[in-house]
Amino acid sequence: MDGILNEVTNTVHKQETGGREFQTVCGVAYNVAADQLRPGGIDQLVTSQSTSKCGRCFDDGGGY
Ligand SMILES: [Zn+2]
Repeated sequence: MDGILNEVTNTVHKQETGGREFQTVCGVAYNVAADQLRPGGIDQLVTSQSTSKCGRCFDDGGGY
């Protein structure tokens, strides 16, 4: 499963399969410039305490 890190908010989103490159399940990418998003494996992106999972993309995420 691939994820997308929003480098502005340090939030990891789940990439929507079959969509465009930076499309996320919750649709946040529509409001963020492409150069502020970093794709990668979810486990790789969630590497620090300051990085959180999007609550709308992940059932175990922390809020919105
Ligand atoms: Zn999200």
